[in-house]
Amino acid sequence: MSKKGIAILGATGSVGTQALDVIRAFPDKFEAVVLTCGSNGDLLIKQALEFKPKSVVVTDPIQYKIVKEALALQRTTVLYGEEGLIEAVQYAEIDIVLNAIVGSAGLKPTVMAIQSGKDIALANKETLVVAGELIMALVREYGVNMLPVDSEHSAIFQCLVGEDQNPIEKIYVTASGGPFRGRKREELLQVTKAQALKHPNWSMGAKITIDSASLMNKGLEVIEAKWLFDLAIDQVDVIVHPQSIVHSLVQFEDGSMKAQMGLPDMKLPIQYALTYPARFENNFERFNFMDYPTLHFEKADMETFRNLALAYETLRAGGNKSCILNAANEVVVAAFLADKVGFLEMSDLIEHTLEKVEFIASPTLEDYLETDRLARLITKEIIKD
Ligand code: NAD
Ligand code: MG
Repeated sequence: MSKKGIAILGATGSVGTQALDVIRAFPDKFEAVVLTCGSNGDLLIKQALEFKPKSVVVTDPIQYKIVKEALALQRTTVLYGEEGLIEAVQYAEIDIVLNAIVGSAGLKPTVMAIQSGKDIALANKETLVVAGELIMALVREYGVNMLPVDSEHSAIFQCLVGEDQNPIEKIYVTASGGPFRGRKREELLQVTKAQALKHPNWSMGAKITIDSASLMNKGLEVIEAKWLFDLAIDQVDVIVHPQSIVHSLVQFEDGSMKAQMGLPDMKLPIQYALTYPARFENNFERFNFMDYPTLHFEKADMETFRNLALAYETLRAGGNKSCILNAANEVVVAAFLADKVGFLEMSDLIEHTLEKVEFIASPTLEDYLETDRLARLITKEIIKD
């Protein structure tokens, strides 16, 4: 059997590097055909020398020059920017495009990959938050597979194997609650970037780690789940589970519930997206019940963590609302990481932007891109004031 050709968009990030760990573990099953990065050229050079992909793509212009020089004597071609991404995702050698870019910058590459007929392994949840309806319509039109990488969505996807004929009654997306679980609003006024970056269970990129602390990550995941599994909003519930062992649950119409469990390790959902429908034997650490004699569940506190409520509201409003939410969130998270806004201020700013950007009921791809641009602009302007 020939190897599965993989393109990893965002190969230098947290998901990207773990995907390369998976590819490294199965050298006769997978081949890295394309690797891309934003600005971490040094790591991309190392990865290219090890995996010898057909091409690498660099989005940052200065890093592009550095990578191009460093790989001048290699057979890997070095491409630049969006045009480079468009060219590379179309290669005939690619079977699956793993989108591990962070933020709405991942939207267009997902569209390009679907239109090139490639299966998508989706870590970039922002793709579905911004334009879920449009993306899932494209997935159906081009007949490609959309394989979730986000651990909760992978869990739901795994629970649905063999259940084609059985409608879902409800899903429960589990949430760790992040480092500030149990705190009230007044206790969150002074929290620092360093505290917010200390996630109890997962080691991830900075943006998603802040989103986890503010529960925006769970809000984005509710939106992601709604589109991915074609559910009504009321069918998507969130349950806080601080140990991150149950990765999510599906409840069927007979009341039966299926959960997918395991230690919190992103390599498993990444591997499953690449091997689906097969499961490959690996040596990842196994779960031991005696380390977790009780599993704990509690209600999400949407009054303290307003982002989760805001995400549900944008989903109910429809149109370009979740796109506005996402763009404003990306700007405020960057500002929080730059010590320019406080933790609780983030939700206030997002709410403000949600009111300011014009509502579009049935947006096209261009409308989404323009909404994203405008929402960023407006949020940045208020932060400057
Ligand atoms: P990260 O910041 O560690 O890595 C992001 C990658 O994207 C890097 O390779 C970076 O160079 C590239 N990149 C950044 N901006 C870019 C741009 N404008 N254009 C092109 N490339 C760009 O992020 P991450 O934590 O790996 O997360 C990636 C995605 O996966 C996010 O959407 C996140 O929500 C999702 N996700 C991550 C995890 C995790 O464990 N890290 C878990 C579930 C879902
Ligand atoms: Mg997740």
